[in-house]
Amino acid sequence: MTVVRHLTDEEIQLHLDDAPGAGRGSEIEAHLEGCPDCQATLLSFEALSEALSSLPAGEPPADFTASVMARIDEREQARESDRRVAVTVLGAVALALTIAVAAAGQAAWAPAFSAASSAGVALLRTVRIGADILSPVLSALRLEILVVTALLGIALTLALSRLAAPPRHGHAA
Ligand SMILES: [Zn+2]
Repeated sequence: MTVVRHLTDEEIQLHLDDAPGAGRGSEIEAHLEGCPDCQATLLSFEALSEALSSLPAGEPPADFTASVMARIDEREQARESDRRVAVTVLGAVALALTIAVAAAGQAAWAPAFSAASSAGVALLRTVRIGADILSPVLSALRLEILVVTALLGIALTLALSRLAAPPRHGHAA
């Protein structure tokens, strides 16, 4: 009594592809003829193969595209609200720097600027800690916030050094 060994998926695929020189063609044919199980498997392979080849090449189904677009929309909306938070934070930093400089007056610009800088650094540190704890999405914007704040700081430094320059070099030239 021999143990019935059904065809493997690979063998059925070989038969389906009608691959020449496989060497086992007749064996596979013989088993298929006498085995309804493997015939059924072959039929399902054929059906799958036809279904796949009837799909337009490279084009995913319409609902696939729709679901991807919906996901993109969700991300865009999340990003939009993150931007509003970032703009609010940046506005607060800029306002704090402006108030610090304005309140200090011309004579105290240098110490006022360093005070404003450390206030900005402290605020950034708070924002970073808050972002770490409260919102992983906001923390993704940390770099953006840091870059824009750095740009604000550079612009402020340039403006201050330009304003502070005339009195310092008044006696030269
Ligand atoms: Zn079989």
